Amino acid sequence: MNFYSTNNPKHIVSLKEAVIQGLAPDQGLYMPGMIPVMPQSFFDRFAEMSFQEMGEEIISALFGEDLDPSQIKALVEHTLAFDAPLVKVEEGIYSLELFHGPTLAFKDFGARFCSKLMSMLMVGEERKIRVLVATSGDTGSAVANGFYKVPGVEVVILYPKGKVSELQEKQFTTLGENITALEVEGVFDDCQQLVKDAFLDEELNQKMLLTSANSINIARWIPQCLYYFYAISRFPEKNKKVAISVPSGNFGNLGAGILAQKMGLPIDVFIASTNVNKIVPDFLHGNSFSSKKSVPTISNSMDVGNPSNFSRLLALYDNDEGMLREKVRGFYFDDLDTQKAMRAIMNSTGYILDPHGAVGYLGLRNFRKQNPEYVGIFLETAHPGKFKEVVEETLGIKLELPERLEKFLHGTKKVESLANDFGDFKAYLLASN
Ligand SMILES: *Cc1c(COP(=O)(O)O)cnc(C)c1O
Repeated sequence: MNFYSTNNPKHIVSLKEAVIQGLAPDQGLYMPGMIPVMPQSFFDRFAEMSFQEMGEEIISALFGEDLDPSQIKALVEHTLAFDAPLVKVEEGIYSLELFHGPTLAFKDFGARFCSKLMSMLMVGEERKIRVLVATSGDTGSAVANGFYKVPGVEVVILYPKGKVSELQEKQFTTLGENITALEVEGVFDDCQQLVKDAFLDEELNQKMLLTSANSINIARWIPQCLYYFYAISRFPEKNKKVAISVPSGNFGNLGAGILAQKMGLPIDVFIASTNVNKIVPDFLHGNSFSSKKSVPTISNSMDVGNPSNFSRLLALYDNDEGMLREKVRGFYFDDLDTQKAMRAIMNSTGYILDPHGAVGYLGLRNFRKQNPEYVGIFLETAHPGKFKEVVEETLGIKLELPERLEKFLHGTKKVESLANDFGDFKAYLLASN
Protein backbone atom coordinates (compact mmCIF):
# COMPACT_ATOMS: atom_id res chain seq x y z
CA MET A 1 0.00 0.00 0.00
CA ASN A 2 1.29 3.44 -0.91
CA PHE A 3 0.11 6.67 0.63
CA TYR A 4 -0.32 10.13 -0.83
CA SER A 5 -0.44 13.53 0.84
CA THR A 6 -3.78 15.33 0.90
CA ASN A 7 -1.84 18.45 -0.13
CA ASN A 8 -0.25 16.80 -3.14
CA PRO A 9 -1.54 13.55 -4.67
CA LYS A 10 1.82 13.15 -6.47
CA HIS A 11 3.71 12.95 -3.19
CA ILE A 12 3.71 9.19 -2.65
CA VAL A 13 5.40 7.24 0.13
CA SER A 14 5.57 3.70 1.49
CA LEU A 15 3.80 2.47 4.61
CA LYS A 16 7.04 2.75 6.59
CA GLU A 17 7.68 6.33 5.49
CA ALA A 18 4.10 7.37 6.18
CA VAL A 19 4.16 5.88 9.68
CA ILE A 20 7.55 7.31 10.63
CA GLN A 21 6.84 10.77 9.23
CA GLY A 22 3.32 11.02 10.64
CA LEU A 23 2.57 14.26 8.84
CA ALA A 24 3.71 14.69 5.21
CA PRO A 25 6.53 17.23 4.70
CA ASP A 26 4.03 19.52 2.90
CA GLN A 27 1.87 19.37 6.08
CA GLY A 28 -0.72 17.21 4.32
CA LEU A 29 -2.23 14.08 5.84
CA TYR A 30 -1.42 10.70 4.35
CA MET A 31 -4.22 8.75 2.65
CA PRO A 32 -4.20 5.22 1.26
CA GLY A 33 -3.47 5.29 -2.47
CA MET A 34 -6.18 2.70 -3.06
CA ILE A 35 -9.09 1.65 -0.85
CA PRO A 36 -9.72 -2.10 -1.16
CA VAL A 37 -13.31 -3.36 -1.20
CA MET A 38 -13.94 -6.46 0.90
CA PRO A 39 -15.45 -9.34 -1.12
CA GLN A 40 -19.07 -10.41 -0.64
CA SER A 41 -17.80 -13.73 0.77
CA PHE A 42 -16.33 -11.76 3.69
CA PHE A 43 -19.67 -10.11 4.49
CA ASP A 44 -21.45 -13.46 4.17
CA ARG A 45 -19.23 -14.86 6.94
CA PHE A 46 -18.45 -11.93 9.20
CA ALA A 47 -21.28 -12.46 11.69
CA GLU A 48 -19.67 -15.77 12.64
CA MET A 49 -16.09 -14.47 12.76
CA SER A 50 -14.40 -13.27 15.94
CA PHE A 51 -13.29 -9.63 16.16
CA GLN A 52 -9.69 -10.75 15.64
CA GLU A 53 -10.44 -13.00 12.65
CA MET A 54 -12.33 -10.16 11.04
CA GLY A 55 -9.50 -7.76 11.85
CA GLU A 56 -6.94 -10.01 10.20
CA GLU A 57 -8.88 -10.14 6.93
CA ILE A 58 -9.40 -6.40 6.83
CA ILE A 59 -5.78 -5.55 7.69
CA SER A 60 -4.60 -8.11 5.10
CA ALA A 61 -6.69 -6.34 2.45
CA LEU A 62 -5.02 -3.05 3.41
CA PHE A 63 -1.45 -4.03 4.30
CA GLY A 64 -1.08 -7.50 2.78
CA GLU A 65 1.70 -6.25 0.48
CA ASP A 66 3.66 -4.69 3.31
CA LEU A 67 3.45 -7.24 6.09
CA ASP A 68 3.47 -11.02 6.14
CA PRO A 69 0.52 -13.00 7.56
CA SER A 70 2.24 -13.75 10.88
CA GLN A 71 2.94 -10.04 11.40
CA ILE A 72 -0.65 -9.15 10.60
CA LYS A 73 -1.87 -11.75 13.05
CA ALA A 74 0.39 -10.41 15.81
CA LEU A 75 -0.60 -6.82 15.04
CA VAL A 76 -4.31 -7.55 15.17
CA GLU A 77 -4.05 -9.68 18.30
CA HIS A 78 -2.17 -6.93 20.10
CA THR A 79 -4.69 -4.28 18.99
CA LEU A 80 -7.95 -6.15 19.50
CA ALA A 81 -7.10 -7.52 22.91
CA PHE A 82 -10.40 -6.38 24.42
CA ASP A 83 -14.01 -6.39 23.30
CA ALA A 84 -16.15 -3.62 21.79
CA PRO A 85 -19.66 -4.72 22.75
CA LEU A 86 -22.81 -3.36 21.19
CA VAL A 87 -25.33 -2.56 23.94
CA LYS A 88 -28.99 -1.77 23.31
CA VAL A 89 -29.86 1.48 25.08
CA GLU A 90 -33.40 2.06 23.89
CA GLU A 91 -35.67 1.08 20.98
CA GLY A 92 -33.63 1.44 17.79
CA ILE A 93 -30.54 2.91 19.54
CA TYR A 94 -27.38 0.97 20.38
CA SER A 95 -24.14 2.02 22.08
CA LEU A 96 -20.88 0.71 20.65
CA GLU A 97 -18.70 0.66 23.76
CA LEU A 98 -15.14 1.44 22.75
CA PHE A 99 -13.82 1.96 26.28
CA HIS A 100 -12.84 -1.54 27.35
CA GLY A 101 -9.12 -1.02 26.71
CA PRO A 102 -6.40 -0.13 29.23
CA THR A 103 -6.97 3.65 29.28
CA LEU A 104 -10.77 3.51 28.93
CA ALA A 105 -11.13 5.39 25.66
CA PHE A 106 -11.32 4.40 22.00
CA LYS A 107 -7.86 5.88 21.44
CA ASP A 108 -6.46 2.62 22.82
CA PHE A 109 -7.24 0.88 19.51
CA GLY A 110 -5.20 3.30 17.43
CA ALA A 111 -2.38 3.63 19.96
CA ARG A 112 -1.91 -0.12 20.31
CA PHE A 113 -1.90 -0.70 16.56
CA CYS A 114 0.51 2.18 16.03
CA SER A 115 3.01 1.00 18.63
CA LYS A 116 3.09 -2.57 17.37
CA LEU A 117 3.32 -1.54 13.72
CA MET A 118 6.13 0.91 14.43
CA SER A 119 8.18 -1.72 16.23
CA MET A 120 7.69 -4.07 13.24
CA LEU A 121 8.70 -1.47 10.69
CA MET A 122 11.80 -0.55 12.69
CA VAL A 123 13.38 -4.01 12.76
CA GLY A 124 16.99 -3.63 11.64
CA GLU A 125 17.08 0.11 12.33
CA GLU A 126 20.38 1.05 14.02
CA ARG A 127 19.38 4.35 15.52
CA LYS A 128 17.48 4.54 18.73
CA ILE A 129 13.79 5.15 18.09
CA ARG A 130 12.04 7.72 20.12
CA VAL A 131 8.41 8.65 20.02
CA LEU A 132 7.86 12.21 21.21
CA VAL A 133 4.36 13.10 22.35
CA ALA A 134 2.95 16.36 23.62
CA THR A 135 -0.29 15.82 25.48
CA SER A 136 -3.00 17.67 27.29
CA GLY A 137 -4.11 14.36 28.84
CA ASP A 138 -5.78 11.56 26.92
CA THR A 139 -3.32 11.07 24.07
CA GLY A 140 -0.46 10.67 26.54
CA SER A 141 -2.18 7.87 28.41
CA ALA A 142 -3.26 5.96 25.30
CA VAL A 143 0.17 6.26 23.65
CA ALA A 144 2.09 5.43 26.85
CA ASN A 145 0.00 2.33 27.44
CA GLY A 146 0.12 1.31 23.79
CA PHE A 147 3.92 1.49 23.69
CA TYR A 148 4.53 0.13 27.18
CA LYS A 149 7.30 -2.50 27.00
CA VAL A 150 7.28 -2.51 23.18
CA PRO A 151 10.87 -3.54 22.34
CA GLY A 152 13.11 -1.05 20.56
CA VAL A 153 10.92 1.98 21.09
CA GLU A 154 11.20 4.65 23.75
CA VAL A 155 8.45 7.12 24.47
CA VAL A 156 8.97 10.63 25.84
CA ILE A 157 5.79 12.37 26.94
CA LEU A 158 5.70 16.13 27.51
CA TYR A 159 2.80 17.59 29.41
CA PRO A 160 2.01 20.93 31.03
CA LYS A 161 2.74 20.85 34.74
CA GLY A 162 -0.41 21.02 36.86
CA LYS A 163 -2.72 21.16 33.85
CA VAL A 164 -3.83 17.54 33.43
CA SER A 165 -6.15 15.69 35.78
CA GLU A 166 -4.62 13.48 38.47
CA LEU A 167 -6.06 10.39 36.86
CA GLN A 168 -4.72 11.30 33.43
CA GLU A 169 -1.30 12.09 34.88
CA LYS A 170 -1.15 8.78 36.73
CA GLN A 171 -1.88 6.88 33.54
CA PHE A 172 1.40 7.93 31.95
CA THR A 173 3.70 8.78 34.86
CA THR A 174 3.48 5.51 36.79
CA LEU A 175 4.47 3.02 34.09
CA GLY A 176 8.26 3.44 33.96
CA GLU A 177 10.21 1.00 31.72
CA ASN A 178 10.39 2.56 28.23
CA ILE A 179 8.01 5.42 29.08
CA THR A 180 9.42 8.73 30.36
CA ALA A 181 7.22 11.62 31.43
CA LEU A 182 8.51 15.20 31.44
CA GLU A 183 6.45 17.89 33.11
CA VAL A 184 7.02 21.19 31.41
CA GLU A 185 6.80 24.59 33.06
CA GLY A 186 4.28 25.89 30.56
CA VAL A 187 1.03 25.17 28.76
CA PHE A 188 0.14 22.48 26.21
CA ASP A 189 1.17 24.64 23.27
CA ASP A 190 4.67 25.01 24.76
CA CYS A 191 4.96 21.21 24.93
CA GLN A 192 3.82 20.96 21.33
CA GLN A 193 6.39 23.56 20.27
CA LEU A 194 9.25 21.74 22.03
CA VAL A 195 8.32 18.55 20.18
CA LYS A 196 8.07 20.35 16.84
CA ASP A 197 11.47 22.00 17.39
CA ALA A 198 12.99 18.60 18.15
CA PHE A 199 11.68 17.16 14.86
CA LEU A 200 13.37 20.04 13.00
CA ASP A 201 16.72 19.84 14.82
CA GLU A 202 19.45 18.42 12.58
CA GLU A 203 21.78 17.17 15.26
CA LEU A 204 19.03 15.28 17.08
CA ASN A 205 17.82 13.71 13.85
CA GLN A 206 21.32 12.50 13.02
CA LYS A 207 21.75 10.83 16.37
CA MET A 208 18.32 9.31 16.89
CA LEU A 209 15.18 8.47 14.97
CA LEU A 210 12.45 10.77 16.19
CA THR A 211 8.87 10.04 15.37
CA SER A 212 5.42 11.05 16.52
CA ALA A 213 2.37 8.99 17.40
CA ASN A 214 -0.20 11.71 17.23
CA SER A 215 -3.68 11.10 15.99
CA ILE A 216 -3.09 12.07 12.37
CA ASN A 217 -0.61 9.20 11.92
CA ILE A 218 -2.17 6.63 9.58
CA ALA A 219 -1.09 3.91 12.00
CA ARG A 220 -3.50 5.39 14.51
CA TRP A 221 -6.16 6.39 12.02
CA ILE A 222 -6.67 3.29 9.88
CA PRO A 223 -7.20 0.62 12.60
CA GLN A 224 -10.20 2.59 13.85
CA CYS A 225 -12.15 1.23 10.86
CA LEU A 226 -12.09 -2.24 12.45
CA TYR A 227 -14.74 -1.68 15.12
CA TYR A 228 -17.24 -0.37 12.57
CA PHE A 229 -17.08 -3.73 10.80
CA TYR A 230 -17.46 -5.52 14.12
CA ALA A 231 -20.46 -3.39 15.12
CA ILE A 232 -22.32 -4.01 11.88
CA SER A 233 -21.51 -7.74 12.00
CA ARG A 234 -23.14 -7.94 15.44
CA PHE A 235 -26.02 -5.51 14.78
CA PRO A 236 -29.23 -7.42 15.54
CA GLU A 237 -31.66 -5.38 13.43
CA LYS A 238 -31.25 -6.72 9.93
CA ASN A 239 -32.73 -5.21 6.78
CA LYS A 240 -33.17 -1.76 8.26
CA LYS A 241 -31.41 1.44 7.32
CA VAL A 242 -28.48 2.05 9.67
CA ALA A 243 -27.13 5.39 10.88
CA ILE A 244 -23.91 5.72 12.90
CA SER A 245 -23.34 8.77 15.07
CA VAL A 246 -19.75 9.64 15.96
CA PRO A 247 -19.00 12.13 18.76
CA SER A 248 -16.19 14.08 17.12
CA GLY A 249 -13.33 16.49 17.76
CA ASN A 250 -10.51 16.02 15.29
CA PHE A 251 -12.71 13.79 13.10
CA GLY A 252 -10.31 10.87 12.81
CA ASN A 253 -12.88 8.46 14.19
CA LEU A 254 -15.61 9.55 11.79
CA GLY A 255 -13.16 9.42 8.87
CA ALA A 256 -12.26 5.84 9.75
CA GLY A 257 -15.97 4.97 9.66
CA ILE A 258 -16.24 6.40 6.17
CA LEU A 259 -13.16 4.37 5.22
CA ALA A 260 -14.98 1.21 6.40
CA GLN A 261 -18.01 2.23 4.33
CA LYS A 262 -15.78 2.69 1.27
CA MET A 263 -14.45 -0.82 1.90
CA GLY A 264 -17.98 -2.06 1.34
CA LEU A 265 -19.45 -2.00 4.84
CA PRO A 266 -23.20 -1.32 4.61
CA ILE A 267 -23.77 1.87 6.61
CA ASP A 268 -26.47 4.15 5.22
CA VAL A 269 -25.58 7.45 6.83
CA PHE A 270 -23.00 8.97 9.16
CA ILE A 271 -23.81 11.60 11.75
CA ALA A 272 -21.11 14.04 12.85
CA SER A 273 -22.02 14.98 16.43
CA THR A 274 -20.11 17.71 18.25
CA ASN A 275 -20.33 19.98 21.25
CA VAL A 276 -20.45 23.75 20.66
CA ASN A 277 -17.13 23.50 18.85
CA LYS A 278 -19.22 23.02 15.75
CA ILE A 279 -16.90 23.85 12.85
CA VAL A 280 -17.83 20.70 10.92
CA PRO A 281 -21.63 20.75 11.55
CA ASP A 282 -21.54 24.39 10.39
CA PHE A 283 -19.74 23.31 7.25
CA LEU A 284 -22.22 20.49 6.67
CA HIS A 285 -25.08 22.99 6.96
CA GLY A 286 -23.66 24.93 4.03
CA ASN A 287 -21.10 27.31 5.50
CA SER A 288 -17.50 27.32 4.40
CA PHE A 289 -14.95 25.57 6.60
CA SER A 290 -13.40 28.04 9.01
CA SER A 291 -11.42 27.18 12.12
CA LYS A 292 -12.15 28.99 15.36
CA LYS A 293 -10.60 29.19 18.78
CA SER A 294 -11.93 26.24 20.77
CA VAL A 295 -14.37 26.71 23.63
CA PRO A 296 -14.10 24.56 26.80
CA THR A 297 -16.96 22.11 27.39
CA ILE A 298 -17.69 19.06 29.56
CA SER A 299 -16.91 16.81 26.58
CA ASN A 300 -13.43 18.27 26.57
CA SER A 301 -11.76 15.68 24.35
CA MET A 302 -13.85 17.17 21.54
CA ASP A 303 -12.90 20.79 22.21
CA VAL A 304 -11.21 21.26 18.87
CA GLY A 305 -11.36 24.50 16.89
CA ASN A 306 -9.40 23.32 13.86
CA PRO A 307 -10.25 19.66 13.21
CA SER A 308 -7.10 18.16 11.75
CA ASN A 309 -8.75 15.29 9.90
CA PHE A 310 -11.09 17.50 7.89
CA SER A 311 -8.87 17.21 4.82
CA ARG A 312 -9.17 13.43 5.15
CA LEU A 313 -12.98 13.63 5.15
CA LEU A 314 -12.83 15.65 1.96
CA ALA A 315 -10.29 13.32 0.36
CA LEU A 316 -12.63 10.38 1.07
CA TYR A 317 -15.21 12.14 -1.13
CA ASP A 318 -12.69 13.11 -3.85
CA ASN A 319 -12.58 16.67 -2.50
CA ASP A 320 -16.21 17.15 -3.45
CA GLU A 321 -17.67 19.37 -0.71
CA GLY A 322 -21.22 18.86 -1.95
CA MET A 323 -20.85 15.11 -1.71
CA LEU A 324 -19.49 15.32 1.85
CA ARG A 325 -22.47 17.52 2.82
CA GLU A 326 -24.86 15.06 1.23
CA LYS A 327 -23.44 11.95 2.87
CA VAL A 328 -22.75 13.17 6.41
CA ARG A 329 -25.30 14.86 8.67
CA GLY A 330 -24.14 17.30 11.33
CA PHE A 331 -25.57 18.07 14.79
CA TYR A 332 -24.16 19.96 17.77
CA PHE A 333 -25.23 20.27 21.40
CA ASP A 334 -24.29 22.44 24.34
CA ASP A 335 -23.40 21.23 27.83
CA LEU A 336 -26.95 21.66 29.14
CA ASP A 337 -28.39 19.43 26.39
CA THR A 338 -25.64 16.93 27.06
CA GLN A 339 -26.31 16.78 30.79
CA LYS A 340 -30.05 16.56 30.22
CA ALA A 341 -29.54 13.55 27.94
CA MET A 342 -27.25 11.87 30.48
CA ARG A 343 -29.91 12.26 33.18
CA ALA A 344 -32.80 11.20 30.94
CA ILE A 345 -31.05 8.03 29.79
CA MET A 346 -30.02 7.06 33.29
CA ASN A 347 -33.55 7.59 34.58
CA SER A 348 -35.30 5.77 31.76
CA THR A 349 -32.88 2.90 31.15
CA GLY A 350 -30.20 2.85 33.85
CA TYR A 351 -27.46 3.29 31.21
CA ILE A 352 -24.69 5.70 32.15
CA LEU A 353 -23.32 7.83 29.34
CA ASP A 354 -20.07 9.77 29.50
CA PRO A 355 -20.39 13.34 28.16
CA HIS A 356 -18.84 12.42 24.77
CA GLY A 357 -21.10 9.42 24.23
CA ALA A 358 -24.04 11.59 25.27
CA VAL A 359 -23.30 13.97 22.40
CA GLY A 360 -23.21 10.98 20.04
CA TYR A 361 -26.50 9.70 21.45
CA LEU A 362 -28.14 13.10 20.97
CA GLY A 363 -26.99 13.31 17.34
CA LEU A 364 -28.56 9.95 16.62
CA ARG A 365 -31.77 10.71 18.50
CA ASN A 366 -32.27 14.00 16.68
CA PHE A 367 -31.53 12.43 13.31
CA ARG A 368 -34.10 9.70 13.99
CA LYS A 369 -36.74 12.28 14.85
CA GLN A 370 -36.52 13.47 11.26
CA ASN A 371 -35.81 10.00 9.83
CA PRO A 372 -37.78 7.45 11.86
CA GLU A 373 -37.15 4.67 9.32
CA TYR A 374 -33.53 4.44 10.54
CA VAL A 375 -32.11 2.48 13.45
CA GLY A 376 -28.69 3.32 14.69
CA ILE A 377 -25.52 3.09 16.69
CA PHE A 378 -23.63 5.81 18.54
CA LEU A 379 -20.01 5.38 19.53
CA GLU A 380 -19.44 5.52 23.28
CA THR A 381 -15.84 6.75 23.12
CA ALA A 382 -14.92 6.78 26.82
CA HIS A 383 -15.86 5.08 30.07
CA PRO A 384 -17.93 7.41 32.27
CA GLY A 385 -15.37 6.87 35.05
CA LYS A 386 -12.81 8.70 32.95
CA PHE A 387 -14.87 11.86 33.48
CA LYS A 388 -15.80 10.99 37.03
CA GLU A 389 -16.32 14.50 38.41
CA VAL A 390 -18.68 15.70 35.65
CA VAL A 391 -20.62 12.43 35.54
CA GLU A 392 -21.07 12.26 39.31
CA GLU A 393 -22.11 15.88 39.51
CA THR A 394 -24.54 15.60 36.58
CA LEU A 395 -26.16 12.37 37.72
CA GLY A 396 -25.91 12.78 41.48
CA ILE A 397 -24.39 9.31 41.87
CA LYS A 398 -21.11 7.78 43.01
CA LEU A 399 -19.26 5.99 40.22
CA GLU A 400 -17.25 2.84 40.74
CA LEU A 401 -13.95 3.04 38.89
CA PRO A 402 -13.02 -0.07 36.92
CA GLU A 403 -10.18 -2.03 38.44
CA ARG A 404 -7.76 -1.19 35.64
CA LEU A 405 -8.20 2.49 36.40
CA GLU A 406 -7.89 2.02 40.17
CA LYS A 407 -4.59 0.26 39.57
CA PHE A 408 -3.03 3.44 38.15
CA LEU A 409 -4.12 5.49 41.14
CA HIS A 410 -1.98 3.35 43.43
CA GLY A 411 1.14 3.55 41.23
CA THR A 412 4.07 5.80 42.07
CA LYS A 413 4.47 8.88 39.93
CA LYS A 414 7.86 9.09 38.22
CA VAL A 415 8.46 12.31 36.38
CA GLU A 416 11.26 14.68 35.44
CA SER A 417 10.81 18.44 35.32
CA LEU A 418 11.74 20.48 32.31
CA ALA A 419 11.94 24.23 31.81
CA ASN A 420 10.09 25.53 28.77
CA ASP A 421 13.39 25.77 26.91
CA PHE A 422 14.41 23.89 23.77
CA GLY A 423 18.10 23.91 24.75
CA ASP A 424 17.27 22.03 27.93
CA PHE A 425 15.02 19.56 26.11
CA LYS A 426 17.69 18.87 23.49
CA ALA A 427 20.33 18.38 26.19
CA TYR A 428 18.00 15.94 27.92
CA LEU A 429 17.45 13.91 24.74
CA LEU A 430 21.16 13.80 23.92
CA ALA A 431 22.19 12.86 27.45
CA SER A 432 19.70 10.01 27.64
CA ASN A 433 20.48 8.66 24.18
C1 LIG B 1 -10.39 11.95 21.15
C2 LIG B 1 -11.77 11.75 21.64
C3 LIG B 1 -12.91 12.06 20.84
C4 LIG B 1 -12.78 12.70 19.48
O1 LIG B 1 -12.31 11.81 18.50
P1 LIG B 1 -11.82 12.36 17.10
O2 LIG B 1 -11.32 11.17 16.37
O3 LIG B 1 -10.71 13.36 17.41
O4 LIG B 1 -12.96 13.02 16.43
C5 LIG B 1 -14.17 11.76 21.32
N1 LIG B 1 -14.33 11.24 22.56
C6 LIG B 1 -13.29 10.94 23.35
C7 LIG B 1 -13.55 10.37 24.69
C8 LIG B 1 -11.97 11.18 22.93
O5 LIG B 1 -10.93 10.90 23.74
